[in-house]
Amino acid sequence: MKLFRIKKSNIDRNGKGLYAAKNIKRGTKIINYVGKIITKKQTEKSEKFDNSKPIYLFNLNNRYDLDGDVSWNTARLINHSCSNNCDYEGTGLKVWVVAIKDIKKGEELTCDYGFSYDKDFKQFPCKCKSKNCCGFIVREGSRWRIKKIRKSVNNSIQI
Ligand SMILES: [Zn+2]
Repeated sequence: MKLFRIKKSNIDRNGKGLYAAKNIKRGTKIINYVGKIITKKQTEKSEKFDNSKPIYLFNLNNRYDLDGDVSWNTARLINHSCSNNCDYEGTGLKVWVVAIKDIKKGEELTCDYGFSYDKDFKQFPCKCKSKNCCGFIVREGSRWRIKKIRKSVNNSIQI
């Protein structure tokens, strides 16, 4: 039995998401993140990755990337959340989506897309609705920068 099923997403209103089809234990490999293995040179040349955000693109090693933007990659439907319950784990040229928390049946599976904080971050608003949502799709290690901006905005309103 598959660990997940595809359903309309609660996070991405226009899109689909993956949902736990049964209780999943932390550490479980849920789905293989598949795609085309391309060389770094191909990544550089591809217009698809021009906007500097590594959408569906994984760094496998210093020579190859994985382009997951293919219809047969079901794992690409997993949405980003600021309190994600899954994460991507690479071993060799394979990438897995692994549960990083115990997940209950019916919960939407989410990952941290790992986008860096840069001048374009506002192009990717986050609608994960989790308590600690910073409002944008930015990797966990950089979210404090956004909170800082929001805080200073609030302060200036109070003054
Ligand atoms: Zn969020």
